[in-house]
Amino acid sequence: MLSRWRDVTARRPWRLSAKLLIISSVVTVIGFSAICVNVMLDMRRGEEALARQTLENLATTIESDVSRNIEIYDLALKAVASNMLLPEIATVSKPIRHLILFDHSTTARHFGAIQVFDADGRLTIDASTLDPVVVNRGDEDYFKAHRDNPQAGLFISRPMLFRGAYSIVLSRRISDTDGGFLGVVAGSIRFSYFHELFERLSLDPDDTITVLRRDRTVMMRRPFDLDVIGTNLADRPVWKAENLKVGSAFAGQGPIDGTPRLYVRSGGTSPLFVVAGKPLNTVFELWQREAYRIGAVVVALSLFMLASTLVLAREIGRRAEAERKLEQMATTDALTGLKNRRKFDQVIDVEWRRAMRQQTPIALLMIDADHFKAYNDTFGHQAGDQVLVGIAICISDSVSRAGDCAARYGGEEFAVLLPGTSVTDALLVAEKIRAKVQGWSDDHTSSTVSCGIASLVPTTGMDWPILVAAADKALYAAKAGGRNQSVVASLPKLSLVA
Ligand code: GH3
Ligand code: MG
Ligand code: MG
Repeated sequence: MLSRWRDVTARRPWRLSAKLLIISSVVTVIGFSAICVNVMLDMRRGEEALARQTLENLATTIESDVSRNIEIYDLALKAVASNMLLPEIATVSKPIRHLILFDHSTTARHFGAIQVFDADGRLTIDASTLDPVVVNRGDEDYFKAHRDNPQAGLFISRPMLFRGAYSIVLSRRISDTDGGFLGVVAGSIRFSYFHELFERLSLDPDDTITVLRRDRTVMMRRPFDLDVIGTNLADRPVWKAENLKVGSAFAGQGPIDGTPRLYVRSGGTSPLFVVAGKPLNTVFELWQREAYRIGAVVVALSLFMLASTLVLAREIGRRAEAERKLEQMATTDALTGLKNRRKFDQVIDVEWRRAMRQQTPIALLMIDADHFKAYNDTFGHQAGDQVLVGIAICISDSVSRAGDCAARYGGEEFAVLLPGTSVTDALLVAEKIRAKVQGWSDDHTSSTVSCGIASLVPTTGMDWPILVAAADKALYAAKAGGRNQSVVASLPKLSLVA
């Protein structure tokens, strides 16, 4: 029987509390969301890298086309500049001079005819005619650049109207053998070349291609805008030099309009470079759609999980409360509110073993109402019940330690377990209870109680019924001794603690 009680009082099995459930589900939601965010950011980086690569390829392709044409044209200018030094040039006929000076490659569709100006800026030779018009270009930037700087090399002008068409002018200095300034040879590449080049590419309407000179002057731009052509962007804070180094990318607002784009600069070394731009919302369009879709699913799942958790947690809370109430009901005496006999048996079993382990005394008071049958017979059962409640209150008021256990043992009999209490102290508690009942009943019912007291330090081989029997015996002695008194059990063979 004792082993059965030990099973009942064994440690409770682990239970999932509402709080733990909420914490674990919040942690799961956070962890799951963090993984999703990470995956989405990885996808975003992938989209950006792909767009960057595409734009870089585009910019580099355009740049190499432009630079190849500039190179072809420059070779022709160089040839003119060096052939102008031939002494025979001045003596041969104009048609022969044209044949010597001008390469047929420069007559391609988008190239303007090459012109030669003397040291004062006067047009002396024109590839398109044997009799050039009288004109002086001494004030033009490209002329002054060569006149003032022998090291100017190939000079590419700002976009301008040249021979009636928007063009960029390419020019070289003609120097004599000593480096003296003899004039300038100049030609042009028309905008039509760029228009045709850009038309060949399949681009979105908001994609931009900007061809810039090294000093960041806009030579050409798609979409075409004459107001922007020729502007210098070097001082624009939104598109600084450090934002667009060779082969690098920059995501943000461009220098012309407010649309945020991904800009990538070509990686070549030609005199003109190209920046290709794509609106960020186009770059991330697919990703954004996917992100919204996955985000909505994750949010919905998270909300569902949190809502289910809350419902479950509430249910767990309700059940725990119901269990607590049930347990309380199962261990409490309904009339007096003290512990019932079942609970008392559990407690004494646990405390007995603890006292045995720690070798400390354990005391028990058995308390019985005197002449209670007579009281019932005289005043009725209901009045008797009230007396039992009164006695229970007197007992509860006298027992205050955390480990103490006051219980209704049966009928009009009560038991008080006092772990760690010597017989002397137990007697004091018993007397306190007895006096309290007497004091209270003097005013009401003239009821009294008798107490049997036993206290001992359990040794191996002993079990707690010994203590109960001893206290019971002492209780009989108290009854026999005239009632309304406390009697200490005499336990000569046991280790009685005094
Ligand atoms: P003694 O002083 O020797 O203990 O006399 P007693 O009359 O108290 O002893 P006895 O055991 O003969 O009577 C116990 C009585 O207690 C019998 C029963 O009527 C009464 N009793 C037991 N349980 C209850 C209860 O729950 N309510 C009421 N009102 N009376 C009870
Ligand atoms: Mg009695
Ligand atoms: Mg009795």
